Amino acid sequence: MGFEQWKEELEKNYADTVAWRRHLHAHPEPSFEEKETAKYVLEKLESFGVDDIQTNVGNGYGIVGKIKGKYPGPTVALRADFDALRVKEEVDLPFKSKREGIMHACGHDGHTASLLSVAKVMAQHKDELHGNIVLLHQHAEEVLPGGAKSMVEAGALKDVDYVFGIHLGADQPLNQVLYNVSFGSANSDSFTMKIQGKGGHGAAPHDTHDALTVGTQIVSGLQQIVSRMTDPVKPAVLTFAGFQAGGEAYNIIADTAEIKGTVRTLHKEVQQKVEHKLKQMSEMIASAYDATVEVDYKKGYPSIKNTPEEVEKVKDTFLSVFPESEVAEVKESMGGEDFAYFLEDKPGAFFRVGAQAPDNTAAFPHHHPKFEIDERSLLRSGEVFLAIISTYLQG
Ligand SMILES: [Zn+2]
Ligand SMILES: [Zn+2]
Repeated sequence: MGFEQWKEELEKNYADTVAWRRHLHAHPEPSFEEKETAKYVLEKLESFGVDDIQTNVGNGYGIVGKIKGKYPGPTVALRADFDALRVKEEVDLPFKSKREGIMHACGHDGHTASLLSVAKVMAQHKDELHGNIVLLHQHAEEVLPGGAKSMVEAGALKDVDYVFGIHLGADQPLNQVLYNVSFGSANSDSFTMKIQGKGGHGAAPHDTHDALTVGTQIVSGLQQIVSRMTDPVKPAVLTFAGFQAGGEAYNIIADTAEIKGTVRTLHKEVQQKVEHKLKQMSEMIASAYDATVEVDYKKGYPSIKNTPEEVEKVKDTFLSVFPESEVAEVKESMGGEDFAYFLEDKPGAFFRVGAQAPDNTAAFPHHHPKFEIDERSLLRSGEVFLAIISTYLQG
């Protein structure tokens, strides 16, 4: 009884899990449009006998279900996202995307299939559980404002004590289960600056306020924010990704300029400081040259902040049940992931599960048209969920 038996049943269900993943892969739907995907997930959860299923949770097609244990105990939520991307698939597979320009290029089809498989197994073992499992099938992870925040606001974590999620990693070896003790991803913000100067003749600069040179002063001046103003042991990235000014002519001074970029930080106080200095300095620089600048700063997903005690607890289970696996701590990523909103509400953690085929060391990155996962990772990600369940609910 317990983990070993659940794991055996998960293995028996592997062929079905792969078939579900392939169905989802062939029928991808982009963020906020996952109508058929949600229907597919709902049908499966109903057929497994999952309780209290809610649909259209939050600002899209989110689904929440519950597996109620026989004995009292904590409630553990497990999350899998199910949206695809607007990417044209270039992998030649029998289950290649049937929808032009849309692709499961981040592995969310795999997350969904493995959580479904876990739901199927655990719905058969309710009478062993000391507590409950909440299944969070989340829509729209890839596009702001994301689905997670709205699911939390809709009460998806109301009776939940702990929340966990996983992400498959096509660039991590199949055998790895990776964790961060604290931060897992970054506050991922973006900004646009519109500089208004005064254009004019290239031979009469004194009659103009050159928006292009003001822009260059801003780009070089703001490099000081990360190098001189933020705490060196708390990371920050300020990237200028685009700069548009002037036109085809050799003799016209630019009237306007537009700059865009991204800010990545882990700590809230660093995020606030970078935002403040970015606005303040660009305005002061523009004004020194008699131009103006309008800064539109958009906050993206917050950083994932894992709960160290829960990471330690679950990690100990991993080490004992995956003796052949490499269970390791990794450096935090400066990418963004809206699972962060669940962890702002309840303690828990986010893990990465290796999905790179052993013979495919030149794996294509997530969101690439040639992105691929090794399907054996579906089994491992399911086992990770089972290990989490056994940590909290095995009595
Ligand atoms: Zn992604
Ligand atoms: Zn993803």
